[in-house]
Amino acid sequence: MRKLICLFIAVSFALSPAIGARATENDPSHPLFSDASGWTSARSGGRVSVAVARKPWLRAGIDYWNSLAGWNLFVFGDDPQITAHVDQQCRYCALVTDPYAQWSQPFVRCNVSVARDGRDEVTIAHELGHCLGLEHQRSGVMRPQPGGAIPPRYRAFDQKLLVTAGYSSVEAT
Ligand SMILES: [Zn+2]
Repeated sequence: MRKLICLFIAVSFALSPAIGARATENDPSHPLFSDASGWTSARSGGRVSVAVARKPWLRAGIDYWNSLAGWNLFVFGDDPQITAHVDQQCRYCALVTDPYAQWSQPFVRCNVSVARDGRDEVTIAHELGHCLGLEHQRSGVMRPQPGGAIPPRYRAFDQKLLVTAGYSSVEAT
C-alpha cells in the first residue's frame, strides 16, 4: 500500500491518517517518522550520501540540506535512491516506494513529486525532508505552508532537526 504525505497538512491527513495521528509530529525532539525511518547508512556517523535523481530543479533543496548537514548528505547519482517523478494524484508530495512503502521502515527508495509550477525552494526542501524521514514541524521547511524562498531564519531550526535525526553533528551556524 502506498502512503503519501503532502506539503499541505489537510491533504496529508486525508490521505494518510496513520501518519497524521502520530504523536511525534510537531515534536522536534523526535523529528523522524520512527527511529528506523530514512537512511541509516547516512545517519549516526555513517555519512553515506543519499543518491538523488539528476534533476537540476532539485538543486535548491539539495544545497539547503547539505549546507545545514555540513557534508554531502545528498548527491546526484545515476542509480538514485530518491527519484523525482511527478505523480498526478499528488503533485506536491513525497512517497516511500520500494520495497516496504512504509514511512516507519528504513528507506530503500523515496520519490519526490513536485509539479513544474511548484518548484520553489520551500516545496523542494520540504519534500526532500520527508525523504529523509522527517515529519511535519511547526517551524522550518517541514512546516506545511505555501512555497516560496526559504527564509534565513529557518536554518537554525532545520539544522537542529538534522542533528537530532542523526544526519549531522555540526552545531547551528
Ligand atoms: Zn509534508
